[in-house]
Amino acid sequence: MKRILLPFAVICVTAISIIGCKKNATTTSEDEISQQTLAQIQSLGFSTQNVRKVDEGFLVEGDIVLTPELLNSKPEEKTLRIAEVEQYRTTNLVQRLPRNISVLVSNLGTAFIQGADLAISRYNALGGQITFQRITSGTPDITIIGFNQGPSGGYITLGSSGFPTSSGNPYNQIKMNTNQYAYGSNPDVNYVGSVIQHEIGHCIGFRHTDYMDRSYSCGGRKVNEERPPSGLGAILIPGTPSTPDAESWMLACSNGGNRTFNANDVTAMNFLY
Ligand SMILES: [Zn+2]
Repeated sequence: MKRILLPFAVICVTAISIIGCKKNATTTSEDEISQQTLAQIQSLGFSTQNVRKVDEGFLVEGDIVLTPELLNSKPEEKTLRIAEVEQYRTTNLVQRLPRNISVLVSNLGTAFIQGADLAISRYNALGGQITFQRITSGTPDITIIGFNQGPSGGYITLGSSGFPTSSGNPYNQIKMNTNQYAYGSNPDVNYVGSVIQHEIGHCIGFRHTDYMDRSYSCGGRKVNEERPPSGLGAILIPGTPSTPDAESWMLACSNGGNRTFNANDVTAMNFLY
């Protein structure tokens, strides 16, 4: 999940006139990623724009890791279309339900521990087939670890994660940014918890609600993230509103504060789990 940093963008623009703003110094361009990989990413229905190589695989849409396993698989894909602007696209889902998923927070501060507890309590309050439990020892299903990365291009990455495995297990890692520009020196638990809630959403199979147009939450120009693969299933859920409904927990970009499930998110969660 990302957040727009307007003040940073302004500072950067000011700096150009004085010293020249050094940008794209660490950007991995698309041509460093093989055409075969880009074709695999596209065949899964993801944009090939701004794909980045990371340790675990390839990062798309700013915060979703596509692992080699996922790239080489043919995941079952469904689109849940709720309202005009909300589409919950899923790849693999967590299987063997009902299921309790253990979460361990590793080497992170109190706000991250309390944030994890907040996110877990919000999922568990849905009363669905999937529940979460934070553990402090043993082998967890999902480990939350830190990374430190500064802003780039007026945005900062708040956290990242990935999709379930083809064998039906949740993605096993969430990375949370400990950089001072992400959550500040005294992180707000509701803010941190909302981002963890979003990253858990990816771990159990949810894509960004606004994957078809990230400018909905991220601002900027309209970007069509996806070329839909042929034969993609779409599931329309009866009885849900047809008007736009903002503030989904799976929007690509954060509002910088507390954000949880809206009514349509609850419908989508209940439908899948
Ligand atoms: Zn995300």
